[in-house]
Amino acid sequence: METKIKKITPDSLREAKNIIESGGVVAIPTETVYGLGGSAFDDTAVQKIFEIKGRPNDNPLIAHVHRDYDLSKLVDFQPSYAKKLREAFPVGPLTLVYPSRGKVSPRVSCGLDTLAVRVPSHEGAQAFLRAVEIPIVAPSANLSRHVSPTSARHVLDDFDGKIPLILDGGECVGGIESTVCDCTGETPVILRAGLITREMIADVVGDCKVYEPKLERGERVKSPGILYKHYSPRCQTLLFAADDIENAALTYQRETLGGKRVAVLCEERWLTLFETLGAKTLNLGKTRSEIAARLYKRLREAENICELLIAIEPTEKDGVMVGVLNRLQKACLSEDIKR
Ligand code: AMP
Ligand code: MG
Repeated sequence: METKIKKITPDSLREAKNIIESGGVVAIPTETVYGLGGSAFDDTAVQKIFEIKGRPNDNPLIAHVHRDYDLSKLVDFQPSYAKKLREAFPVGPLTLVYPSRGKVSPRVSCGLDTLAVRVPSHEGAQAFLRAVEIPIVAPSANLSRHVSPTSARHVLDDFDGKIPLILDGGECVGGIESTVCDCTGETPVILRAGLITREMIADVVGDCKVYEPKLERGERVKSPGILYKHYSPRCQTLLFAADDIENAALTYQRETLGGKRVAVLCEERWLTLFETLGAKTLNLGKTRSEIAARLYKRLREAENICELLIAIEPTEKDGVMVGVLNRLQKACLSEDIKR
């Protein structure tokens, strides 16, 4: 199969709609990362997405809809804070988990009685969702456990010959996946950190908790995705805290002397230090939004230039950086978390 990359035009949207209606999958841009989209109503399309990605079959998918889609067709808005959150964040990188009305394929939520829904703000994603008019499941368009894609080229690198069409909407501005927030209990609970922070949610509804799975008790995790090694480049990766920078530098020198091709991924402030040592550096930038937007691009660059990546954690650890840090830590996991 030839994989075409096409800019978003009335013609390419028509082509995408035809593919979706015949049970196929299409890669689409969003403001977070590129997604691998298929009809949420179609068991076969949903199954195909799990297979193409090699995604563990207990990791549920998010349904994406356009901004005027009537969500009451799919979910019950039980708690009043869920309505407040929808009004405060009508579009953007926030996924809300509601009690499901069971209208989508049961494969979408992997047997859970809830459904995660997001309304992306990306204009190309909106145009696509309007063209198809049905909810689209769209997990990140990368092979499972690999780094998420923030450009059409990244999608092609993972799925060339495996999918018919990639809609090209440019580079993703957000850069990390949406915040996933459970809206089935008394207060909202963040299941996955992202660009909409705990503080932003608490500002709207007064309170917001962060889910911490009790892995040792073997209970069913609320968001199975959190257990998997994820976002990982195909090179060995070592993560150092920003206050352990001397150790990172020593490790760089030792591994380079040992003959390894080593690169360093860090905020702009550390570049000179590592460049003085002769290191190839991958610059995450200065501001929080720059760091989030560049993270996956730099992790993908790393796998092409080194055998060992020394990654330095961002200095700031609150707000949006909670999500960035979470991705970086998982990228550096050597295997899935065992239960
Ligand atoms: P991805 O599609 O790769 O962005 O991952 C979707 C994320 O949303 C994963 O972390 C899932 O575990 C989480 N998720 C999707 N549906 C649900 C749901 N019904 N309940 C809880 N978490 C969900
Ligand atoms: Mg993903």
